[in-house]
Amino acid sequence: MACSGIGDVTVQISNLGLFCLEAVIYFSVMTGFLHFRRQLGLGVFLAALGVMHFMETYLAAVFYVELPFGLVSPGSSIFFAGKLMLILLLYMKEDAATVRQPIYGLFLGNLLTVGIAQILQAHPVVTLPGGRPADMGFLSEMGWLMIWGTALLYVDAIGIILIYERLSRIFRGLTVLRFALAGAIVLSFDQVGFYAALHFLFDAPPAVFFGGWYAKLLAVLLYSIMFATYLKFGQMPRMVRSSRQIGDIFNDLTFRERYQALLESSGMDGLTGVYGRSRLEKDAPALIDESLKQRKSLSLMIIDADWFKEVNDLFGHLEGDDTLRQLAARLKAGCRPRDHLSRFGGEEFVLVLPDTDHAQAVELAEALRASVCHSLRRPDGQAITVSIGVATAPEDGEAFDILLGTADERLYQAKNDGRDNVHGRHGRSVLGSRQAGA
Ligand code: GH3
Ligand code: MG
Ligand code: MG
Repeated sequence: MACSGIGDVTVQISNLGLFCLEAVIYFSVMTGFLHFRRQLGLGVFLAALGVMHFMETYLAAVFYVELPFGLVSPGSSIFFAGKLMLILLLYMKEDAATVRQPIYGLFLGNLLTVGIAQILQAHPVVTLPGGRPADMGFLSEMGWLMIWGTALLYVDAIGIILIYERLSRIFRGLTVLRFALAGAIVLSFDQVGFYAALHFLFDAPPAVFFGGWYAKLLAVLLYSIMFATYLKFGQMPRMVRSSRQIGDIFNDLTFRERYQALLESSGMDGLTGVYGRSRLEKDAPALIDESLKQRKSLSLMIIDADWFKEVNDLFGHLEGDDTLRQLAARLKAGCRPRDHLSRFGGEEFVLVLPDTDHAQAVELAEALRASVCHSLRRPDGQAITVSIGVATAPEDGEAFDILLGTADERLYQAKNDGRDNVHGRHGRSVLGSRQAGA
């Protein structure tokens, strides 16, 4: 369309109508690609997102229209806001490990674009057929401003997901409200960040800030309405992912979970930081052999949290995870440097005690039980307790699985005996009751 006079209300209204139409088409088609990703392949959505990102960059550089209350580029308002909202939508439908692919793709692709643009400008160019001169303006804009925008986009994309998750604590279940608020917060942040650069580099007046801000918020409003409509009609699978901790999501988004996988591959338990089961299965037989060779006793205990399912049921899985971490830390603090503590599974831990006879092991088990009971609390103030079964080599057996089986039987007895107690070879330990009575 040809350039029009500034301040013409009919033009502004018509621009607003076109702006909304573009937003509706963009969002519905992209959401369609996302919705049918199983049939089409996720690549269709991702490639389309990248192509529209190019369109956005181009429009933001060269194409501005007048809306009521401000001058804006549909590129930076509709497509930029849309891209972030779609990244959030992809996260809701898939997970952090999937959504980081386009986040990093856009980030690295932008850097590549800036790099190649520098080389392209060195070309001696020819005039186009029809006498049109080559337009180097767009390429020459691919400089520091683009790098700044790229860095902001990266922060925005991770931010919108973390904010959406954080809001789930306050607005549980109100998915559309969280979607809209996360979008509004991140796009406002982005507008401040980008305007700061424009102001610093080109002395852009405040009107540039407010025009862009208002258009981005308008886009967020439109997308949120469409998202609500989509939720109503397209049966979206349950998307409340708030059962994960923000830190975990951040780790996934930034590839830091690789570090956790590395921990796990080295035999550590990712959640609690103590040894994992595979490490126990590798180390325990060697520790037993060593003790038997030296004619020393070795004891082993299984520690199982009592009524743990209730912690999850009443306070959520996050609280449960946190309790497991605290429990592991407490056990670790209560055992000796040579002891081998591992998470056997779920809420069960195994502690292998070299050079420890049965009486010493029962005593240590009793101290651990009391320390957990006195220091760990559920959010409602009730104590977290553990039950423990103890077995000792060579009296109870010389093979790891026999010892483990015996300790497990004794744990079972401890559970039947009312929980929060220790069972060894002679049944329930009397140390606990003595302490309780003292
Ligand atoms: P009991 O006193 O008989 O041991 O009761 P319990 O509820 O602790 O025992 P049960 O074996 O029935 O349940 C164990 C629960 O531990 C079930 C599961 O929800 C929870 N759990 C297992 N692994 C994890 C985990 O990694 N995180 C969290 N939050 N919960 C876990
Ligand atoms: Mg258990
Ligand atoms: Mg249990």
